[in-house]
Amino acid sequence: YTQVSLRLAARIQEQDNQILTGAEVTGIRHHADSITVNTKQGDISAKQVINCGGLFSDRLARMGGAKPACKIVPFRGEYYVLKPAAEHLCKALIYPVPNPEFPFLGVHFTKMIHGGVECGPNAVWAFVREGYTKTRINIGDLLEAATYPGFRKMAFKYWKTGLKEMWRSFSKPAFVHELQRLIPEIKAADLEAAPAGVRAQALGPDGTLVDDFMIDESDRMINVLNAPSPAATSSLRIGSMITDLLARRIQ
Ligand SMILES: Cc1cc2nc3c(=O)[nH]c(=O)nc-3n(C[C@H](O)[C@H](O)[C@H](O)COP(=O)(O)OP(=O)(O)OC[C@H]3O[C@@H](n4cnc5c(N)ncnc54)[C@H](O)[C@@H]3O)c2cc1C
Repeated sequence: YTQVSLRLAARIQEQDNQILTGAEVTGIRHHADSITVNTKQGDISAKQVINCGGLFSDRLARMGGAKPACKIVPFRGEYYVLKPAAEHLCKALIYPVPNPEFPFLGVHFTKMIHGGVECGPNAVWAFVREGYTKTRINIGDLLEAATYPGFRKMAFKYWKTGLKEMWRSFSKPAFVHELQRLIPEIKAADLEAAPAGVRAQALGPDGTLVDDFMIDESDRMINVLNAPSPAATSSLRIGSMITDLLARRIQ
């Protein structure tokens, strides 16, 4: 996927377009016939803005004056990898039958293209939007989620599942037990901890975990508000859908 991203970046630059990285958006201002995005590397004016800010997409949409009918709640996905001596236990991609009630697949085994086998991810509520480790907490993010009616409704409905996920996050034997449903021979000693990712999960005000892509339009902005897995795999198709939307808006 890194290679896909690098190739896309190269093609954008080949056509004389600019990619600005590390330019945090801090404000969005509307004018009569344009929109200005304030970033830590200066202001950018445009006719239209596409917001694909992942974990911060709802905040960016609000910054731009939209009223998205959802809030992003971060769910950390933690992984282990199989130690080389145990890799023979996994000969293919192995997935559980998903529970249609949840947008998360459940832990699975992924044979990686450059070798190695990933085991995971679980889905644990992260106490901060960029909560890539268990110890990161941000009181503002925590309160924002906890005071959102949708979050409280979700927590009320799925508290048991949530607690089990947290338990599996802190207990390696519990995580291993879940993996053994797919490969019974796996033992804790076969696994070592690997870096985690954080899902940007849109949550509706009624507590619904949005499981489809959600793309919203507002004044001079297209907001990608929910792009869960497999949005990376589908990124080219989603991209062309967004450019179609954009073409219609600027006609
Ligand atoms: C654990 C895990 C496993 C996954 N597995 C798969 C998989 O197997 N297959 C698959 O297809 N998908 C998978 N996904 C999902 C995939 O990662 C997402 O669907 C995809 O990354 C969404 O792309 P995006 O561009 O919308 O958002 P992101 O990739 O999150 O990008 C958002 C970007 O916005 C930037 N940003 C945010 N706020 C600001 C700001 N204020 N100013 C400037 N920039 C900002 C961020 O820095 C980031 O670069 C997985 C995700 C996780 C967490």
